[in-house]
Parts: sequence; C-alpha cells; structure tokens
Amino acid sequence: MEKKEFLRKIPAIDKIINSSEFDRYKDKYPKDLLIECIRDEVDNLRKQILNSSEDKLCKIEISREIVLRGAVEKARRLLEPSLRRVVNATGTVVHTNLGRAPLSSKIKEHLWEVAGRYSTLEYNVERGTRGSRYSHVESMLCRLTGAEAAFVVNNNAGAVLLVLSALAKNKEVIVSRGELVEIGGSFRIPEIIAQSGAKLIEVGTTNKTYLEDYRKAITENTVALLKVHTSNYRICGFSHQVKGAELVRLAQQYDLISIEDLGSGTFIDFTAYGLSYEPTVTETVETGIDIVTFSGDKLLGGPQGGIIVGKREYVERIKHHPLTRALRVDKMTLAALEMTLKLYLEDIQCVEHLPVINMITMPVEKLTARANRLLALIKKEVSETDAKMMVVDDFSMVGGGAFPTDKLPTKTVAIKPERVSSEEVEKRLRQNDPPVIARIKDDVIVFDVRTLFDDDLKTIADSLGKILGGD
Ligand SMILES: *Cc1c(COP(=O)(O)O)cnc(C)c1O
Repeated sequence: MEKKEFLRKIPAIDKIINSSEFDRYKDKYPKDLLIECIRDEVDNLRKQILNSSEDKLCKIEISREIVLRGAVEKARRLLEPSLRRVVNATGTVVHTNLGRAPLSSKIKEHLWEVAGRYSTLEYNVERGTRGSRYSHVESMLCRLTGAEAAFVVNNNAGAVLLVLSALAKNKEVIVSRGELVEIGGSFRIPEIIAQSGAKLIEVGTTNKTYLEDYRKAITENTVALLKVHTSNYRICGFSHQVKGAELVRLAQQYDLISIEDLGSGTFIDFTAYGLSYEPTVTETVETGIDIVTFSGDKLLGGPQGGIIVGKREYVERIKHHPLTRALRVDKMTLAALEMTLKLYLEDIQCVEHLPVINMITMPVEKLTARANRLLALIKKEVSETDAKMMVVDDFSMVGGGAFPTDKLPTKTVAIKPERVSSEEVEKRLRQNDPPVIARIKDDVIVFDVRTLFDDDLKTIADSLGKILGGD
C-alpha cells in the first residue's frame, strides 16, 4: 500500500466528534480540550505515516477508537497535577528532589484555614491597623533560638544574599578557603558574595585555616567575617577550621560583623540519636554571633524558607533593604512555619509530630518491625517464584546537606525479580500512582522503610503485585 492510502485512512476529525464514543467522554473532559487533543493525535498520526519507511507502515494502527483513546489519555494527563506526592523509599530523609521536609500532619487544617480564607497576614487585629507579615514568627524564633530578633525570607540562599547585600555591600568579607562551597549545584558562596556587591577575601587553604589567617586579612575595608557550614561534604584527616565562637571573638575585637550560614540548622542535638555533633542554632546564637541564617525545609522539618536570627541592630538593617520585598515569604509559608515552630515550643524533641525528626531518630526495632510488615504485605501480592525477597541491613542518609558522612543503620526490603530486570521494575514503580521511588543496588531493588509513611507500605505491595504478581 502507498502512503497516500494510509493517509486516507486517518479518520476525519468531525467524524470522531460526532461518534457515540466521543459522547461518552465529552462530559468527563472539557470539550474544547478533547477536540484539541484529537487534532494533535491526528497530526501525530499523519507525521508518523509520512516519516515511516514502507516496511514499517503496516505496523501503524489507524482507527477512530485509537485516535480517541490517545486523545483522552492526553487530556487526562494535561488535567492531572504534575506536582504530586510520591512514595520515598530511598531512605534519604531530606531529599531535595522529592520536596525536602514533609510537613507535619498536625498543621494541615491550620494551613488550609489561613490560605483558604482571609487572614491576619498584614493586619493587627488589636489595633485595627496594618501589621507586619514578619511579626507572626519573630517571637517564636527568638524564644527557640535565644536571639534578639528574627526574620524570614524565601529560602536560605536568598537569606545569605540579602544579609550580605544589606550589611557588606562594597566592603570586604573574609571567608575560609575551606568553606567556599557549592550547594545544590547552583548556589556557590563566591558567586553569592559577588552578587551581593561585597568583596570576597579568601583566607587559609582548602584543608587548614587558622584564626591568624583571618586576623592578618583584616583591613580598614573589612566589614564582616563569614562562616559557612560545609553542608554537603567534609574535609577529613589533616585539617583545621576555626570554631564559630573563636571567629565571633575576633570579630568583636575588630568591631566587625560575625555572620554564619548554618545551612540546615537544627534546634535538636542529634548526638543522643547516634549522629555526629553539629552545633544547634541556639548554641550558635549563644556564642554572641551577630547574624545566623538557615533553611526552613531541611532538618528543621518545616516549609521552604530562609531564617535569619541575630542582633536586632543588624536584623533591622536587613529588614529595610529593598531585596527584602523581592524575597518575601507568602502566607502559606508563614502559616506552616509558625505551626512548625509551635510544635518545637510544645516539645523541643518533636519526635512524634515532625516527620523529618521522627524518621532520623527512628529506633532500629521500629525499622525492623516495619520492614517485616512490608515484606509480609509484598508476599501476599508476589509469589516466591516471581521474585526473591528479604529484609536486608543497609544505611540511610539524612540528606539536605546535613550530616553528610553519617550513615544511619536501617532496614530495607530487597527484591530481586526472577523474570524481568530490576531496571524495568524500578521504572514501572515510578509509573505507579503515586509513583514509588526506590533504589537499585547490586541489581536488586531496595526499599528503605525509614522514609515511608504507614500507608506507603500497602502502596508499595500493591504496586509490586501489579508489576510482578499473578497473570
Ligand atoms: C542548603 C544550604 C543553602 C541553601 O539553602 P536553601 O534553603 O536551599 O536556599 C545555603 N547554605 C548552606 C550552607 C546550605 O547547606
């Protein structure tokens, strides 16, 4: 057959629209959208025929139903949210690609109430006058960190840019060469400093920087000493970095501003849970530091945000900088942050109510019980002839640039499919609704139970059942 004949077989658009099959879908999807999708499908079919070699032509299926089915599928995908929940079976708790910190379920009603109605965002109810959106979280942040003043912007990268723009423009800022880090692929400390208009003065070497290196670099143009948390890597072995407290003292001696970008920032000391020591925000503030910045959605377990705490004098200058308006947070962030902070005020350990803290501190007995439960659920759906499965010891990561060298002992369920490749199963798990994100390790699919929510166990088992089980 010739291409022309194939082209002639393409159904006419109005024939499809007037068919009884079309009637079945026209109430489920907006009619105009459906017609547009039909047009796309027909166009694609035409292109496919024109671009096919003769021998492939006969493999192209052409019928009214196929065009309509393709169009309906397309319309369905267009109307489906692209940003949606997934099951995180990777074991990385603060997973930047998967939305960082899951929020506490305790805050959801409040969040909806504030966002779905009018609110006190910039209104002082007592006085009946305009209020400040930043007032809602300031006192809680001060109470939790011991700082004089606090302020919140869009994210921590924005916070660092704002702080330097407001306090160090056209002046020199001294940073250790061991702390000139890149975070998340695009946030580079030297570039942020350049962007703020401050001049970076590098001191020390990659592995060793001493207090004397900072002291020698101080000139009449120096305005600040900046310490940056080397979030996503560690310099081990023959190394030395100056402690925050020493740097603060030096800054005070020379009347300079001391600033620390803590990165993750936490209110909890995790050493009790077997992790290495990281100073808490409160301990950092106690050193007498002028300004500290950290993220809202890393270890803190709240919404995205850049939290700035410190001396009132500096926070006030930051607040009045024009960039503040460009980096301002919205009502949903503020509502979620205020409620998250309230959970910390009620119980500083927050283990029960904040998913991030709960997952990081999960005892091994609980992980074991969960892994066994997941394995049992999977065994109901998948037979031993379709896959080998067992509970295996492994390690989870905290993620989000926190505790980069700490490995949390965890329990996983490992699956080795007998008839299909692990890659194929991993791919089909991603196509599940909700998508299940698992790891492949040594050609075995691994589900780390640490980062699962209770109802995720059944989702995983059902999904594996569909992919591997039965017929
Ligand atoms: C994560 C991180 C940032 C960026 O914070 P965001 O909230 O993602 O903008 C900046 N500095 C350090 C040290 C970090 O770890």
